[in-house]
Amino acid sequence: MSGNTVQDLLRRRASHLSRSLSVLYDDDPIHVVRASGQYLFGADGRQYLDCMNNVPHVGHSHPRVTEAVCRQMKLVNTNTRFLYEPLVEYAERLTALLPDPLSVCFFVNSGSEANELALRMVRTHTRRRGIVVQDGAYHGNTSGLIDISPYKFNGRGGAGKPDFVEVAATPDPFRGIHRGADAGARYAADAVAAIDRAGVSEFGAAAFIAEPLMGTAGQIIPPDGYLAAVYRGARAVGALTVADEVQIGFGRVGTHMWAFQTQQVIPDIVTLGKPIGNSYPLGAVVTTPEIADSFANGMEYFNTFGGSPVACAAGLAVLDVIEDEQLQAHALRVGAHLKASLAELMARHPSIGDVRGLGLFIGVELVDDPERRSPETDLAERMVLALRREGILISSDGPDHNVIKIKPPLPFSIADADRLAVAVDRFLREAAS
Ligand code: PMP
Repeated sequence: MSGNTVQDLLRRRASHLSRSLSVLYDDDPIHVVRASGQYLFGADGRQYLDCMNNVPHVGHSHPRVTEAVCRQMKLVNTNTRFLYEPLVEYAERLTALLPDPLSVCFFVNSGSEANELALRMVRTHTRRRGIVVQDGAYHGNTSGLIDISPYKFNGRGGAGKPDFVEVAATPDPFRGIHRGADAGARYAADAVAAIDRAGVSEFGAAAFIAEPLMGTAGQIIPPDGYLAAVYRGARAVGALTVADEVQIGFGRVGTHMWAFQTQQVIPDIVTLGKPIGNSYPLGAVVTTPEIADSFANGMEYFNTFGGSPVACAAGLAVLDVIEDEQLQAHALRVGAHLKASLAELMARHPSIGDVRGLGLFIGVELVDDPERRSPETDLAERMVLALRREGILISSDGPDHNVIKIKPPLPFSIADADRLAVAVDRFLREAAS
């Protein structure tokens, strides 16, 4: 019966939704009807362990977030030009979690809107247009952001790199162009050279925009010291630094609230999205008073829904839950356990070339041979499908789609981690036999 529903939904989608919208597991999609914590439930009655969703950060349909949203929705939800308390309270709570001088917030509705606004800000502040990004990066779905996302402009359907964009190498110490002890310095030199190229171009270097840990590029953890050296190079030529924390913020990395802190830097602008509202649409840009001042050049910034009372209620509830349930410390503990279990499998399975990550942001890179390191794209795809049949949802990414991405809702437990590691082991054993 649920099979029929799936076919029916697919048929109806095909009539009225674009082919450019994809469905996960398109040969055998899951018709989801509800979710709780780290689990999704299908119309087929099955429970699925969600290892891929970093948006329902504090757990799917968390009762405290749901309750906060409903309560505020019953009171008032309006456009954002009125005076209301949740906006101010949320700005206070959010900026208290960020280092000085990051103290001025703009609220928007998505990660894309946040990055798009950051683009406008860096260009207004510096009066330059050139943007430096990392190879493999994705920053959002607007035309302005597709232009600065090599993941898209170099991918299928992409129109190539615009002239005002300079691309720095992906700081991938495992399979990237620089490896070994000095890889961090060499990647930083590569990024600074890209910033300098933008600086001498007709566009000038407005900003270096990067995820402190890269998601779509394949769960990349840059070498220590990398971002500090790049930020020094950017600041030397008056370019701003933007940290895209849309995927990785809010305690996921375990040791810190923000991934940029793991690289000992303070960006000029931070962009936030996905986990910020636990799936309620919300995004934010947080910057310095100086940059906010030059952006306030007379043109009003108006965003009808961004930072609405309900969105702020969701944001506040998320912060409460992270704190009360100590989810950052939990991410550190469970992430370390999972990483160690997966790393143990490397001895048995030479196709696991690398296990890397911070907290509950983990990547498992599949290669043909530990030395040659050619990507095992097909094996990664088969693993994703085999685990899905077992009721475990993970995805693969990276330029060769050979990196298994693990970024579950933070309530993910030690037992869940063990279940995942056992399933990965079993799959690789069977694949090798
Ligand atoms: N930045 C990064 C790093 C992302 O991964 C994404 C979404 N995958 C975005 C920005 C855009 O966020 P949204 O889809 O909420 O617009």
